Amino acid sequence: MNSTLAQPAETGIRRPAQTGHIILDRVTVRFGEDVRGRRAIFDTSLEIRPREFVCLLGPSGCGKSTLLNCIAGYIRPSSGEVRVDGHIVERPGPERGMVFQQYSLFPWKSIRDNIAFGPLRAGKSRAEALAIADHFLTMIGLSGFSKRYPAELSGGMQQRVGIARALANYPSVLLMDEPFGALDAQTRAMMQESLLRIWGEVETTVVFVTHDVDEAIFLADRIVVMSAGPGRIIADQDVPLLRPRSPDILTDDTFIRIKKSCLARIRAESLKAFQQQNR
Ligand code: ADP
Ligand code: MG
Repeated sequence: MNSTLAQPAETGIRRPAQTGHIILDRVTVRFGEDVRGRRAIFDTSLEIRPREFVCLLGPSGCGKSTLLNCIAGYIRPSSGEVRVDGHIVERPGPERGMVFQQYSLFPWKSIRDNIAFGPLRAGKSRAEALAIADHFLTMIGLSGFSKRYPAELSGGMQQRVGIARALANYPSVLLMDEPFGALDAQTRAMMQESLLRIWGEVETTVVFVTHDVDEAIFLADRIVVMSAGPGRIIADQDVPLLRPRSPDILTDDTFIRIKKSCLARIRAESLKAFQQQNR
């Protein structure tokens, strides 16, 4: 896709194409000072290409959030390093947007001002920041709600605002930590479709954490499966399903084949962990 098509002329923002290249180089994360302390992630390497949509899939506690937080810069690895576009990640930055499960909007600001917050902080004029906010409000289908406050919106709507707020910084990487985990199944399915449509309009690498196999396959170009004790990658699988995707693909043969293989892998690892714990 041509990068000039993806970003609106009126906001005057251009990012160089091919940004959002993530490298995890032998990352280990230990919580606690002791070198023998519990490792949440162990010696994990991974490369994510620009504009790729990668789902990190794994059971609760396997280190998905920890890995995402390393890319975001909220956690520094105990050893190894994370590089984004060649720069070692040392702290959070606007080029790496994060969307959490809790909506984490400013309750005292209108929807429009929530989205304009990042651009304003980055030094844009109020008029520019509001133009950017309006662009993303339209993209998420909520332009009629710009003056509303977060509490007046449903969970799904608030999460769309959360996505728009992250995108308003024109991040090269969008990090999403179980963003639809708190939503009911119906809303969740709508949000997945909505996210794919939005992603089709922006030039952004997405790393999306989930423990839901169907969600991972529906969304991703590639699924990275993690296992606990300590967290490491046990499978790395392409999802060769055509886009745009609709819920019809849930019954597609390729979808089912990938699902079986992911589930078998997760089950084998869970069984191993279970046997170790019960020895
Ligand atoms: P997931 O997101 O896959 O559920 P997390 O990355 O949150 O897993 O956690 C991985 C492991 O690291 C878990 O065992 C968790 O208890 C532990 N952990 C996470 N954050 C901290 C922390 N700040 N201090 C100590 N242990 C932590
Ligand atoms: Mg988590």
